[in-house]
Formats: sequence, structure tokens, C-alpha cells
Amino acid sequence: MKCNYHTHTFYCDGKDSPEELIKEALERGFFALGFSGHSYNEPDRAFAMSGRTAALYRKEISRLRAKYADKIEILCGIEQDYFSAEPVDCYDYVIGSVHYVLKNGSYIAVDDTAEAVKNAVKELYGGDFDGLAEDYFRLVSKAAEKTGADIIGHFDLVSKFSGQNGFGQSLRFLAAAEAAVRKLVPLGIPFEINTGAMAHGIRSVPYPSPELMKIIKQHGGEIIFSSDCHDKKYLDYGFDIAEELARAAGFERAAVLRGGKTEYIRL
Ligand SMILES: [Zn+2]
Ligand SMILES: [Zn+2]
Repeated sequence: MKCNYHTHTFYCDGKDSPEELIKEALERGFFALGFSGHSYNEPDRAFAMSGRTAALYRKEISRLRAKYADKIEILCGIEQDYFSAEPVDCYDYVIGSVHYVLKNGSYIAVDDTAEAVKNAVKELYGGDFDGLAEDYFRLVSKAAEKTGADIIGHFDLVSKFSGQNGFGQSLRFLAAAEAAVRKLVPLGIPFEINTGAMAHGIRSVPYPSPELMKIIKQHGGEIIFSSDCHDKKYLDYGFDIAEELARAAGFERAAVLRGGKTEYIRL
């Protein structure tokens, strides 16, 4: 997969400049690179772009798009969190993501650390991880409409630390996920096959898990590959494994964005 549309730069919580990432993409033979800075978000000021930073980000990507126009297609997107109220009409595309669940007035960052999630489940859900998962997937099921998404971000992010904190994919978890799939598939936008946590050794499989990939396929969902890149050395990390898993789940094609439109290429 010689493209990636989920890329973070130092304008949010990524390590590299946009130009460093473009150079890396060219070295790897990419035909397209899309940037997706984190939208400004009340519970997430440290990682997100302020309004002023977002304006600088758009200006720089626009400059680079012109500079590299004959070499690679550059897109300026946004990763819009469910709780973010920033405008998105100034971007080429939107990744709609849920990073937080609001419970009893507290935001739980589901991708924070294994221990933080475990403590939040203990304090706010009486130890019932499936309760958190049900609340999370309820938000995910509404996230595409709420954020104006063109892509559904890391569908099962809530299970990021499953391998570390003992929370697994129970029947309740899978039922909650399937309910979200049923609501999202009719919108016709692709689910990310996101290798971000694999690059950091947190998971051995992408988001969504192979079990959930099968459920998405059964319901007629589409997919798009992404590395959720925060460091240029991982720009296409795990794409080979992710493609194999997607094929095993029955997918025969994946979405790419070309000239402002979604197209499909064969796997
Ligand atoms: Zn995200
Ligand atoms: Zn991201």
C-alpha cells in the first residue's frame, strides 16, 4: 500500500516536520501522503492543534503540496475527535475518531496507558470493562456523523491495552462493536485498518482486530490502510501483515483517496 492518510507531524503530537515525512514517502515510492493533525479538543490540549497552530499547519501543507505537485499527491486532512467542535470544511478529508469516553463528568482517555484505563474502569465502571466498551462503541457509532468523517479512525481503540490489562473481546464487547458496525456501514465510508499500535509494540494486530475485520466484512464495510504515523520510520509499518489479515477476513479491495475522491484498489 503505497500511501498513507493518517499522518501526524510536530504541529500536533508527531515527531517530524511535514516535509521530512514527504521525503520519506517519496523514498518509499508513495503516490500519496495525507496529513491528519489532531483537532483542537477540550480534554486533549497537549496533543491537539490550537486554532492558530492549525492555521500554520494548513499553510505549510499547502506550500508543500505545490512544491511536490509533480512527485506525489499531498492532502491536508484532520483527525477530528468526537468531542472536538472545530470546523472541518477547510480540510481535504476528515478522519473521525473517538479517543475519550465521558463518564460521570470525567473524560477517560481510552488510549492513555494500560494502568490508567484499568484504574478508570475500576473507579467509574466498578471493574466492568465491557461497560466502558459499550459506551465507547456507542460514541463510535455516532462519530462519523458528528465529525463529518470520510474515514472511521481506529475502530476498536478501546481495546488498545487488552493484551496488558486483561480486558478481552467478550461477547458483550463484540455485540457492542457489531452494533456500531451496523450503524456505520450504510454511510459508505471506509474503516481504517490502522497499524499504529503495532509500530509501538503494544498490539500484534491492527485496529480493528481480525475478529472485528470479519464482522465489518460480513456487513459489507469498506477498508482503508493507515499507519497512524507519529514517526517517519514507521510510515508504512505493518502494512504487509495488515493486508494479509484483511485478505483473510475476506476483503478484496481497499480505498485510496485520489484527486479528492475515494477510489478502490485490489488487494
Ligand atoms: Zn487517533
Ligand atoms: Zn492519529
